[in-house]
Amino acid sequence: MELIVATKNKKKLKEIKEILKDLPLQIRSLKDFPDAPRIIENGKTFKENAIKKAKIIAQFSKRLTLGEDSGLEVGALGARPGVYSSRFSGKEKSDRRNNLKLLQSLKSTPLKKRKARYVCAVALCDTSGKIRVVEGTCQGLIGFKMQGSSGFGYDPIFIVPRYKKTFAQLGPDVKHKISHRFHALSKIHILLGQYLKKSKF
Ligand code: IMP
Repeated sequence: MELIVATKNKKKLKEIKEILKDLPLQIRSLKDFPDAPRIIENGKTFKENAIKKAKIIAQFSKRLTLGEDSGLEVGALGARPGVYSSRFSGKEKSDRRNNLKLLQSLKSTPLKKRKARYVCAVALCDTSGKIRVVEGTCQGLIGFKMQGSSGFGYDPIFIVPRYKKTFAQLGPDVKHKISHRFHALSKIHILLGQYLKKSKF
């Protein structure tokens, strides 16, 4: 069976494929659908955006579709940047500028008040328009400088307390076992397993 992942983000796609690799699914992405409609991410929540992506692309591709939306919520900033994570430093998306802006925003914030969490919402939409949506989170702290070169987005400044290292230092083997995306996709894995058996969830 085919599963369309409604993203053009290569790094996210890689993580998703890795986590779902034991399921008998042929995973394709928006790269395989160059004429797919552009999705405007204007939801107020990660779930709203994930549902929108899954619905629009399922309708267009006429295939089971997975929509994903994720971001970082920082306690001291009232859960910002949230759904604006990729555009935190401006319309032109830049991970480096986003990291620098976040470090600057927390310049005088002590470590114990630098709590943050990654959130990932994943929606599945089947060809009849039926939707299931789940969420996964990962708790951490925002460091004082960028460290490490693995991953993407805020990974160089997101410290996992248990390891005292950033996701960018820990690398994919550790990240993919504890990340927000892993937790959300583990729930989706169960739903996909049911869907493959019964053609419904
Ligand atoms: P989206 O593509 O609109 O879902 O944007 C997600 C944004 O949230 C990314 O551009 C990153 O800034 C941030 N983000 C989400 N997941 C991760 C992650 O696993 N590591 C680092 N940053 C992430």
